[in-house]
Amino acid sequence: MTATNAHVMIIVGAGPAGMAVAGTMAKAGHEVIILNRDIKFGGLAEYGIFPSKLKLRGGLKKQYWDLLGQPNVHYLGNVTVGNGKDLTVEDVRGLGASAVVFTIGAQGTKAIGVEGDSAKGVYHAKDVVYHFNRLPGFGDRPFDMGKHVAVIGAGDVMVDIAHWLTRYKKVERVTAIVRRGPVERKYNPKEIRAVCANMDLEGIKKEFDRIKDRMAAVGQKADEVLKGLIDEFTKCEPKVSETKMGFKFLASPKRILVDANNCVRGLEMEDNRLDPKGEDTVAVGLKQYYEFPCDAVVFAVGDKVDETVGLPYKGGLFVTNPNKTGNDPDDALFQAYDEAAGKVVEGVFLAGWARKASEGLVGVAKRDGDWCAEVVERYLATKSAGVQAKVVLDKLHHILKSRKSHPVDVKGLRKLEAAEKAHTGESDCIGEFKYASNRDMIGLIETSRA
Ligand SMILES: Cc1cc2nc3c(=O)[nH]c(=O)nc-3n(C[C@H](O)[C@H](O)[C@H](O)COP(=O)(O)OP(=O)(O)OC[C@H]3O[C@@H](n4cnc5c(N)ncnc54)[C@H](O)[C@@H]3O)c2cc1C
Repeated sequence: MTATNAHVMIIVGAGPAGMAVAGTMAKAGHEVIILNRDIKFGGLAEYGIFPSKLKLRGGLKKQYWDLLGQPNVHYLGNVTVGNGKDLTVEDVRGLGASAVVFTIGAQGTKAIGVEGDSAKGVYHAKDVVYHFNRLPGFGDRPFDMGKHVAVIGAGDVMVDIAHWLTRYKKVERVTAIVRRGPVERKYNPKEIRAVCANMDLEGIKKEFDRIKDRMAAVGQKADEVLKGLIDEFTKCEPKVSETKMGFKFLASPKRILVDANNCVRGLEMEDNRLDPKGEDTVAVGLKQYYEFPCDAVVFAVGDKVDETVGLPYKGGLFVTNPNKTGNDPDDALFQAYDEAAGKVVEGVFLAGWARKASEGLVGVAKRDGDWCAEVVERYLATKSAGVQAKVVLDKLHHILKSRKSHPVDVKGLRKLEAAEKAHTGESDCIGEFKYASNRDMIGLIETSRA
């Protein structure tokens, strides 16, 4: 790519997927403008990944700082795209860039849909994760957990929540509530090391006794599965609390039970059996119900995209082109598609968790971004170069100013980083100080600018 056929493109969302698209496109010589809801870049790499994963987070941060230091990369944080936000999707499309890629992650929460889910003490896992990572809007809000917390789910996010509850909140008991059985657990065995020192082994053995006949009915040997589960409790991180962690398998919460103050007092649970389904199994409710006492419930069951953004949306996902056309049949997977109009949204692409909600780790989101960049490159190759970056940026700043928005550029981010490093105040759960409100951050950046 030479400077003569360089294009201006806009990436909305500065998480791992967006930064991957930006890196590839900038390397190819294009002018890249990144708009991001959060003041800071990184997405869930900053506000999702467990704070103590210093190596992973530090490595990503360094890569992202390097990228933002490039002269053809222009970053504006604190700019939300959506209906009634700083910019609408149509505003962004009207700025004159040759392509727009949405890498805004999966910001919606799946409806829990059980009676009582608005009770005090019921939380979505992502909100809890945002809280302990001190994302503005969540970091300074209380998340009361009580003594016994039920975490619904069997994946890595369940383990992250249990990690925080065990090592930092030091609650009395954490129970992972799992719809199917131990064979169908989804967490990575390496992740369980964060909490395995706190496992209630006696309780887990009793739980296996309770469900062993239902496992046997689908050919699963409870003794072997129990051994496999416990064998993964190696290299446990040192125990720092008396929290007991256990599991409730073959259990579906049907109702949140509340006290007179609408605070959680337990779950009404339905017992499940397993039925075979091809190579896999499905949970089938047995219509046998019991009460499970707990003080808080955290739903760690995945996310969906934010349907209010203004991109074509259906069933928890943004709609992509169902027709395998274009330069390469798979390009369609990344093209936003307007079903009502029956055509692609010209020049608009999706990648990362915005394309496939809650799909995989950082590496998967990065690969998706890399792949999307190839698709966009093929698209741009069919277009003649559009306007200059300055024209797009001037128009962008003009609109943001007229709407009294407060975009934060890389210079502002550097000031913020220096101030946070120098600060000794309330910290996240590993002791790192982060401003937990946008107002404080903007105040600091804009005051020191004057
Ligand atoms: C609790 C949790 C723990 C995890 N732990 C790990 C781990 O240990 N290791 C690992 O490899 N992976 C982990 N992951 C997975 C990893 O975080 C994701 O794979 C990855 O962050 C997805 O990247 P993304 O860029 O698609 O979306 P995100 O990371 O969600 O980034 C989205 C970006 O878009 C911006 N944005 C959102 N809405 C708008 C809008 N309307 N307008 C403008 N900007 C917007 C946000 O500010 C954000 O910067 C974890 C995920 C979760 C939820």
